[in-house]
Parts: sequence; C-alpha cells; structure tokens
Amino acid sequence: MDFALTEEQRAVRDVARRIARERIAPRARDLDRSHTYPSEALRELAELGLLGVNVPEAYGGSGAGAVAYAAAIMEIAEACCATSVVTAVTNMVAEQIVAWGTEAQRKAWVPRLTSGAAVAGAFALSEPQCGSDAAALSTTAVRRGDRWVIDGAKQWITSGDHAGVVLVWARTGGPGPKGVSCFVVEGGAKGMAAGKPEHKMGLNGSSTVPLVFDGCEVPADRLLGEEGGGFRIAMSALDGGRIGIGAQAVGVLRACLAASRRYARDRKAFGKPIAEQEAIRWKLADMATELAAAELLVFRAASLKDLGQPFSREASMAKLFASEAANRATSQAVQIHGGYGYLDEFPVERYFRDARVQTLYEGTSEIQRTVIARQILR
Ligand SMILES: Cc1cc2nc3c(=O)[nH]c(=O)nc-3n(C[C@H](O)[C@H](O)[C@H](O)COP(=O)(O)OP(=O)(O)OC[C@H]3O[C@@H](n4cnc5c(N)ncnc54)[C@H](O)[C@@H]3O)c2cc1C
Repeated sequence: MDFALTEEQRAVRDVARRIARERIAPRARDLDRSHTYPSEALRELAELGLLGVNVPEAYGGSGAGAVAYAAAIMEIAEACCATSVVTAVTNMVAEQIVAWGTEAQRKAWVPRLTSGAAVAGAFALSEPQCGSDAAALSTTAVRRGDRWVIDGAKQWITSGDHAGVVLVWARTGGPGPKGVSCFVVEGGAKGMAAGKPEHKMGLNGSSTVPLVFDGCEVPADRLLGEEGGGFRIAMSALDGGRIGIGAQAVGVLRACLAASRRYARDRKAFGKPIAEQEAIRWKLADMATELAAAELLVFRAASLKDLGQPFSREASMAKLFASEAANRATSQAVQIHGGYGYLDEFPVERYFRDARVQTLYEGTSEIQRTVIARQILR
C-alpha cells in the first residue's frame, strides 16, 4: 500500500497550498465578517487549473484525478472553508458535464467553468420541501417543441446567484427517481431568479440562495444524459461530492490542530503553558489522531475513484467520519482557547461555525449511515 502522493498529485497540492496560504487565508476573516463572495479567489483558482482538477485538459481542466482534487480542497479549506465549498461545487458541476454530457455539451459548458468565465458552477437539487428525499422533488420540466420549460423552486443553492452554469434537476415524468431529469441552465437565464442570500450560521463567504423557476425556457439540447436519468446523475455527483466535503472537513481539522497547538504553547495558566496540562494534551492527541484517520478515509475513497472502482460506500464513510471529527475538533479548539475561543479575534469560532454544516449538506450523517448500512447488508 502506497500512502505517498505521486509527483503530479504533489504538484497540484503544492499549487493549492501556495494560493491557499498566500492569497486565500489572509482574506478569510474579512470574507466571513463582510459576507463577501470569493470572486477574486475563484479567478485565481481558475488560472491555476483548480476549478477542474479532475477534468480532462481538453476541457481546460488539470486532468489530475480525484486524489489530487481531494488534496487541493484540503489546502483551500484549511485556509477558508467558504472558498473551498464554492470551489468544490464548481469542480463537481464540471465533472458531471464531462461524465454525462455529449461532446457538444462538454465543449460548450466545461471550459466556461474551468476557465472561471462562468465564475462558478451551481448544483440545484434540493427543494424547500425536500433535501434528503431528493427523489420527491416537484420542480417540473415540460417539453414544448424544441424547448424545455422549467417551473418550481430550489432551496439552499450554493453560488446560485453567481454561477454561470447551473445544473437543475426537474421532474419530466411520473413520481419517484425515474421521473427526474437533469438540465444545464445558463446563469441569468430568463425565468430563473435567485432570491436573497440566506443568513447562515457560518460559511458566510459562500452565498446560499433559493432559486425560483417561472416558465424558464431552455433549448432541448440542455438535457444532460437521458430523460429520466437525472437521479442517477445526482447520486453519482454526490458520491464524488462527498469526497470533496470529507476533504473540506480535513482542512478544518488541520486548521484547528494548528491553531490549538499554537495557543496551547502560548497561553499560560497556573504558572505554565496550558500545553503542559494533561487535559489539553489529550485533546490535541485526539484531534491529531482523528485528523490522520479522516485523511486516510478521504484519500482511500478518492484513490478508488481514480482506479475506476466502486467508491460510494467509502465516500460516505469518509464524509461521515471527517465531518463529525471536524465538528468535535472545532468544539475542542474553542475549549482550548477558553474565553478567547468565543471571540472572533481568534479563528476557531469561525471554524466552529463553518464546520457545522458539514454533517448536513451533500447528505446528512444519518443519510451517510443509511448508505453505508445498505451496502454492508446488500
Ligand atoms: C449552507 C448550505 C449549502 C447547501 N448547498 C446546496 C447546494 O448547493 N445544492 C443543493 O441541492 N442543496 C444544498 N444544500 C441542501 C442540503 O444538501 C440539505 O439541507 C441536506 O441534504 C438535508 O436536507 P434537508 O435540509 O431537507 O433536511 P431533511 O431531509 O428534512 O432532514 C431533516 C433531518 O431528518 C433526518 N432524516 C431525513 N430522512 C431520514 C432518513 N431516511 N433516515 C434518517 N434520518 C433522516 C436528516 O438526517 C436530518 O437530521 C445546502 C444546505 C446548506 C445548509
């Protein structure tokens, strides 16, 4: 078993590490405070090929695979979780168009995402009445001649108000998963409107908006994959997406460990650094151990994906463990910082707020356990 990154994977990781440390980390606190979308960072990430890490070079990507992608997201998330989520969703949208699109669709849409021309990609599956139970979605797409007309509402769409390319799931047939299709909709399309950005607990630099479709007409060639094949696309996208969220959680774990180690050495109580208290040392040891386990799980899932082997169960395990470990670590990081941990003078309160969503989006922890158990019992 080889735990080392290849030269290519290391190169992608190093490029991501450099931009994360030099350009993204210094802006993370302001982005969070001012609720500013990271447009500038996205432009810079695009220039470095980081909006299409696992996308073939023919479509403007880096063609470096899922392990390299995970390594890049870990670096970006360590610097700024909000920037990492918009980056991850953009990568995911580009990958889906490559995987399921016709050659004409790939050429038309993917370079816009990888080059940054589209600003970002968005993934519009969840609806106000259904997130986990996505097959119950009620947005419709009706065929009228050479066009599809989309009507309905989507909820919590990351980058929905900035993205130039939006994947939209809509019902084209009867109830259940087989009646769902997927469409590529251009940002700003007539009949698609983004609502006001939601006020969130964290991830303030990423925008999360409702989308309303009111007679939104798209040409027939915007159908991605087969009519009625949309649910399969969504599930396959989420398998890969879970590697991205797992990687994001690893980034937060790393940031927590670094901040906590630093603080524990600096802060003195009872005449010595708190790092000399066993209670604090054990917290750091647990954090470091869970970080190592989370990294291994994420890289295992990504490596199976690169090998073309099934990775759905492993991606769910990675996302489940890493996101719950990140939540434990952010809480302990605040604890180690004492009262200062509750102030925004130190970054751990942001990590705490940003990590909370990781056990919710792209499948809650309960849904990950359901996926894992289903596969164990198959
Ligand atoms: C910041 C943010 C960004 C997001 N970005 C996007 C995006 O870009 N695109 C998108 O499509 N969606 C996005 N989402 C939506 C997200 O994926 C959903 O919120 C998530 O899937 C959960 O769905 P729900 O909120 O409807 O919860 P529900 O499905 O209503 O679940 C509520 C609770 O019930 C539990 N539950 C539900 N069903 C079961 C079951 N069968 N067994 C056990 N427990 C169950 C859940 O685990 C949860 O604890 C985002 C959400 C947030 C908060």
